[in-house]
Amino acid sequence: MRVFNFSAGPAVLPEEVLKQAQEDMFDYNNTGMSVMEMSHRSKAFDNIIKEAEKDLRELMNIPDNYKVLFLQGGASQQFAMVPMNLMKNKKAEYIITGQWAKKAYQEGQIFGDCRAIASSADKTFSYIPDCSDLDIREDADYVYICENNTIYGTKFKTLPNTKGKILVADQSSCFLSEPVDVTKYGIIFAGVQKNVGPAGMVVAIVREDLITEDVLPQTPTMLKYKTQADNDSLYNTPNCWCIYICGLVFKYLLKNGGLEAMKKKNEEKAKLLYDYLDNSKLFLGTVEKNSRSLMNVPFIVNPSVITDEAKKSELEAKFVSEAKKTGLENLKGHRTVGGMRASIYNAMPKAGVVALVEFMKKFEKENL
Ligand SMILES: *Cc1c(COP(=O)(O)O)cnc(C)c1O
Repeated sequence: MRVFNFSAGPAVLPEEVLKQAQEDMFDYNNTGMSVMEMSHRSKAFDNIIKEAEKDLRELMNIPDNYKVLFLQGGASQQFAMVPMNLMKNKKAEYIITGQWAKKAYQEGQIFGDCRAIASSADKTFSYIPDCSDLDIREDADYVYICENNTIYGTKFKTLPNTKGKILVADQSSCFLSEPVDVTKYGIIFAGVQKNVGPAGMVVAIVREDLITEDVLPQTPTMLKYKTQADNDSLYNTPNCWCIYICGLVFKYLLKNGGLEAMKKKNEEKAKLLYDYLDNSKLFLGTVEKNSRSLMNVPFIVNPSVITDEAKKSELEAKFVSEAKKTGLENLKGHRTVGGMRASIYNAMPKAGVVALVEFMKKFEKENL
């Protein structure tokens, strides 16, 4: 039996895609072998990776002057790859909206002079700071954001004013959840295990003029965008299985109306949950309304209603374990923030969110 899986990542995938993968497992497209067993230089795999790229380009309307790269090392590898490839003046500006942004910022400091030019740390990252007029250095190499903050449940609703500097965005947990204007970015990257596929791969969409040999000295061959771009992500053996599953997800998204349709569906799902939270006495959403993510929804037992801290923690633990018993899994908040978090990515059906809200209502009635 399948559960409703609210995991933040690795996360739920469309059932249709899983079934297709099951069907292809022993014999992919009459090749007599699984995708896991075939050469990454084979005709069959060449088709898989080319189709995946083509479909992603169509989904996101990616202009021709951007390369699409399927890389290993996850999103975290990009925390280093970005500065290694983009730092010409060794200066970069970071907007700190949570732990992933902070990790990227700390990694960037290995390579150059990185500054935190805005932060929402003062209110435990529960909002996106005003980024309309930031102090950006004239010779900064790029401005970095984490567009959707998986742990804290915030999302940039408008992109920062980078004052003409290159915008780099970690879109791991909002990738393909709604349309984006790719031309506004120098680099978009996304670890695919949140909204797109299995773990172990990052998609990087890099503007061509940023792909050069002019990288920091001692940048490893594998970590130059140029190496990866020149070899169409096949410099070494890529994560073939992951590329194949992502390709199936891209096709699934195209078949189901593309990113406009996803946005609509995601807004509907998120509204169900946020509307309930806004009217609940027992539960409290932790994010300021105008910064709320469509993908990750953190909430807690309201401390002004359950004033005893131990009792509050107890109720939260009870919520998570009782939810699990009814087939609503992985609702525990991130280990560093506590409380609860429902990740409602593209592949989470509306029925899952409906079931969650029903369960929350029942729990509230029984425990208030
Ligand atoms: C999960 C996540 C990461 C880390 O991804 P890895 O693939 O594990 O390196 C980075 N950024 C964001 C926003 C994430 O949600």
